[in-house]
Amino acid sequence: LPPAPVEALQPEDVAAILPRPRPDAHKYTRGVVGVRCGSAAYPGAGLLSVAGAATGLCGMVRYVGDRAVADRVREAHPEVVGDGRVQAWVVGSGGGEHAGRELADAVEDGVPVVVDADALAHVRGRLGVPGVLTPHAGELAAMLGTDRSEVEARPLAHARRAADELGAVVLLKGRHTLVAEPTGRVRATTTGVPWLATAGAGDVLGGLVGALLAAGLEPFDAASLGSWLHGAAATLASDGGPIVASEVARHVTAVVRELPARV
Ligand code: AMP
Ligand code: MG
Repeated sequence: LPPAPVEALQPEDVAAILPRPRPDAHKYTRGVVGVRCGSAAYPGAGLLSVAGAATGLCGMVRYVGDRAVADRVREAHPEVVGDGRVQAWVVGSGGGEHAGRELADAVEDGVPVVVDADALAHVRGRLGVPGVLTPHAGELAAMLGTDRSEVEARPLAHARRAADELGAVVLLKGRHTLVAEPTGRVRATTTGVPWLATAGAGDVLGGLVGALLAAGLEPFDAASLGSWLHGAAATLASDGGPIVASEVARHVTAVVRELPARV
């Protein structure tokens, strides 16, 4: 891959790219995202992925998974519905032993997929649908058959290589989050705070990116915009203090409200 400049979204870019409802919108035209995360062993990952997806950025959220988790999702998020057509899937966090099956079922649907956590280990080459892979350094190292320290030492090269080889957008999470496209294009996320290093933060991010895919953004825009909003929401929620993942999801609306006016 030839070298490429690392781009960074500015608030004006975010305001311009963000999908907004048209006056004649209805919930289906705004897009439906489906979440296949969490399991009886890891219900929290399902709840937090849904929390990220259910921030209002698309028209509807469906949850497909373990019955007991689905009951808890409906209690926490009465807006969330069950199985049916979707425009994008979010798969993998808290999936445990079911993650491979959930990934296969999502890909079978033919719509774009966000692949996180346990599902990343089941990615063998190209997905066959537009995809956003959201590994941290350890997960990307395992996918590429290298060590975490190698990825941490050269995150840009590894994210670009994975995007090229797998034909998917790679959102490499960590202190410096990078979003790489198979074309070689890269955007760095400039928002966020170290307080984001907290359990469940990645699950919220996956849900956010899925909602933006369902709303019709291309994978590269969905991934980089989702990461920008996630970091900005964390910064706002933190205000210099500690945060938990569910608070990040709750602050997305305030971040959107404070974006510069669209020109
Ligand atoms: P996960 O590794 O799936 O739990 O996701 C962790 C989330 O927190 C990702 O969005 C990371 O980019 C973010 N994060 C982790 N560590 C840091 C850090 N030191 N500074 C800023 N963000 C971080
Ligand atoms: Mg994670």
